[in-house]
Amino acid sequence: MHLHRNDIQNMIKTRFAPSPTGYLHVGGLRTALYSYLFARKNQGKLVLRIEDTDQERFVEGAMENLIRTLDIMGIDYDEGVYLEKSVVSDQWSVIEKGDFGSYIQSKRSGIYKRYAEELLSKGYAYRCFCTKERLEKMREDQNARKLPPMYDRKCAYLSEDEIEAEVKKGSSYVIRLKIPQESIIAFDDAIRGHVEFRGYLIDDQVLMKSDGLPTYHLANVVDDHLMQITHVIRGEEWLPSTPKHVALYDAFGWEKPIFAHLPLLLNPDKTKLSKRQGDVAVEDYLAKGYIKEALLNFIALLGWNPGTEREIFNLKELTEQFDLSRIQKAGAIFDHAKLDWMNGKYLREMPIEELAREVFGILKKEDWFHLDINDEYFVEVLKLAKDRMTKFSDAIALMKFFLVENFDYDTKLFINEKMKVDLEISKTALAKSLIALEALNTEDFKNEEKTKEVLIKVVANLGLKNGQVLWPIRVALTNESFSPGVFELLRVMGKERSLERMKMAFKLLTTLPTLLN
Ligand code: GLU
Repeated sequence: MHLHRNDIQNMIKTRFAPSPTGYLHVGGLRTALYSYLFARKNQGKLVLRIEDTDQERFVEGAMENLIRTLDIMGIDYDEGVYLEKSVVSDQWSVIEKGDFGSYIQSKRSGIYKRYAEELLSKGYAYRCFCTKERLEKMREDQNARKLPPMYDRKCAYLSEDEIEAEVKKGSSYVIRLKIPQESIIAFDDAIRGHVEFRGYLIDDQVLMKSDGLPTYHLANVVDDHLMQITHVIRGEEWLPSTPKHVALYDAFGWEKPIFAHLPLLLNPDKTKLSKRQGDVAVEDYLAKGYIKEALLNFIALLGWNPGTEREIFNLKELTEQFDLSRIQKAGAIFDHAKLDWMNGKYLREMPIEELAREVFGILKKEDWFHLDINDEYFVEVLKLAKDRMTKFSDAIALMKFFLVENFDYDTKLFINEKMKVDLEISKTALAKSLIALEALNTEDFKNEEKTKEVLIKVVANLGLKNGQVLWPIRVALTNESFSPGVFELLRVMGKERSLERMKMAFKLLTTLPTLLN
């Protein structure tokens, strides 16, 4: 009996086959993640293969960067390229593991050449001697007539003698796949269902360029076959290429893998996800302080859902829940607001010491940041800021005023018409509050009820409203118009720091000439 590969669970093998562009696109991460989840769920294997046949697009360090980013994101694999650190230096080098290497296409040229020749000899491919000029002219004509760009198959009809004569002349040529014109090329996509293409509408794809290097299509199919890939999971943008791949499998007489084309990623306005509307590189999100687990969780839900309302999953839980049949066909919107929400959720659940280390790592790069604060103060401040953070870098704005030593006060903040606060009231409120707070000891400052009681008395004595006294104190402590409440600020900043700031503000107000008006 002939068993389909898919019938034998432990033989499932997927691959992530990126072209190294210099960064990992969020769509690439989703492909890698789904390939990982599907393989792991089915006790199968995942391969990381580098598709670098387009040497014109070579980017120094791109392969290393890809491997590193996948590693950071926690996506491990069973075969392919890895980074290994030198024993004697800090150098990292790319190594390969697995029985089907090399996993770097630029090292496999000989293999592709052999297979291209096999197709030639069997009549499934042909040499095309058309010049660049001819092809360009053809494209222009087609453009002008609003026809899809396609090779007119002139060289498909050359006689043996004509071909021999050209080869003898040393004319350069490419090798094209001969798509059976009368055929209907069909396959069953695991996500999109039955898909059909008419043969005569498919271009005779170039398989080998004139320099003897393969195109993506040939290399991709040959490698998926030789590496025994059972499931090709990739973005929908590759769907138009798939009939060419199917034709190749048929020409070679190879069993086809199961294809699963993932829905497009869209901007909120339903256009294709683009750099213009936000970051697309995973590395950019990490650099901005997004939590990798949150990013992975968010990406997992771009086109897949577990069929319940649940949205928070770690990698292990995703692996348990993942199912190809729950991937949607419709484009998936990359909603930054949702990513922020999710990241905030992860952030608030992080152990505070861990969060503090991450945030410290970001803050210490700020030029205003100085190091003579103690852990306790830093953590107390962070606890206050945490609820309003969605990502690590938000701490910069939320914690800055707690941590800087000197303010360049924005005097206008001491005037608040809505609260009926002018400079005179600010000055008086600060003066009286200073006297009242001086009388408290450091422990009292830790008790919000205590500072509240004292300041409410000041309010009563002055015959003012609460806000008229509390507003100037808030500004004195923070130099901001939005901040946590005054009593929380006093508790976290403590007696010494709070009074110092209030004195600084009071002094400023006494020196202002406009005060008299
Ligand atoms: N090298 C292709 C890419 O960069 C792979 C497409 C595929 O998975 O077949 O996305």
